[in-house]
Amino acid sequence: MSSEPVYVTQPHLPPLEEFIPYLEEIWQSKTLTNGGPMHQALEQALCDYLGVEHIALFNNGTTALLTALQALRVTGEVITTPYSFVATAHSLLWNGLTPVFVDIDPQTFNLDPAKIEAAITPRTTAIMPVHCYGNPCDVEAIQKIADNYNLNVIYDAAHAFGVNDGGGSVLRHGDLSVLSFHATKVFNTFEGGAIVCPDAKTKKHIDHLKNFGFVDEVTVVASGINGKMSEINAAFGLLQLKHIDQVIARRRDIDRLYREELKSVKGIRILEQPVHVTSNYSYFPILVEPDYHLSRDDLYQKLRDHNVFARRYFYPLISEFPMYRGMPSASASNLPSSRRIAYKVLCLPIYPGLNANDVDKILSIVKK
Ligand SMILES: *Cc1c(COP(=O)(O)O)cnc(C)c1O
Repeated sequence: MSSEPVYVTQPHLPPLEEFIPYLEEIWQSKTLTNGGPMHQALEQALCDYLGVEHIALFNNGTTALLTALQALRVTGEVITTPYSFVATAHSLLWNGLTPVFVDIDPQTFNLDPAKIEAAITPRTTAIMPVHCYGNPCDVEAIQKIADNYNLNVIYDAAHAFGVNDGGGSVLRHGDLSVLSFHATKVFNTFEGGAIVCPDAKTKKHIDHLKNFGFVDEVTVVASGINGKMSEINAAFGLLQLKHIDQVIARRRDIDRLYREELKSVKGIRILEQPVHVTSNYSYFPILVEPDYHLSRDDLYQKLRDHNVFARRYFYPLISEFPMYRGMPSASASNLPSSRRIAYKVLCLPIYPGLNANDVDKILSIVKK
């Protein structure tokens, strides 16, 4: 058995020679940032690849979330999920907003639309759902509630790069969708992010916000931030895009293998993929049920003992961290499904460089 450590994910790095011409171009242009040629080319290439019309690139997904909330002038309370990466709720706190946690649907791990209405107050102005693991939210039900109560919808779509829900890109829903291109994501620019915008006017406003609020040399229209993506990051994104179909195809093969081999293991539950959805296979969560012969944490430790570093995404829940746990909506009784899932979930390694031996090794540990 190989003893090389296996992590939950590893970035796909194309051969270094392929990146050199991009660097030469940057050196020639002497444009390092501020919407240079690489940045412009990546925006266009991503619009084409993702099937969206307007995209604004960012230096990371968290700045993009912060800016999306600023762009829509969200105030007061925002309904969101506790079952996510902590940046989702942090982006609300950093904007002086109050997160209101609503429980997830235990079948999809996404915000349960049936529980949203009860959490709306006169102070509620927006909903921030997450397409968890890239699985689309119930976008229609969420939009219906948003329309009824005149709320904005900002999707944290950090996991949903390239996901198609049958009607098109899942990123077309809501007022804005926010992507992360962090090194651990399916598509990465080392660090990076983006906001998918519905129209040119919104994109322009967001482009001003990400550049301190500058419209021209002497005009500042808002208290903006520095959220710009550099030319180096954009260039790496262009290179990554050339490989993305292969990267996702390899992930799909691993996903199929895991599904096939684990479906009959007693006590292991696998998240169903709706048939009309084209996934990006960004994560492979399993639920370790009480009838499995080990607890979730024992299986996690057993894998570690074999140098396999699976991750308990998302445990602890965001609502369990100190800056959130005192909030009324963070109470255990408000979030029963989220808590149950958080104590059962384990994300198995899935990434293009994971070889067949590693997959076999992981499967044999889980099945034994
Ligand atoms: C990765 C991630 C973010 C943060 O993105 P960064 O690019 O790391 O700032 C936000 N939300 C979710 C759900 C994420 O997985």
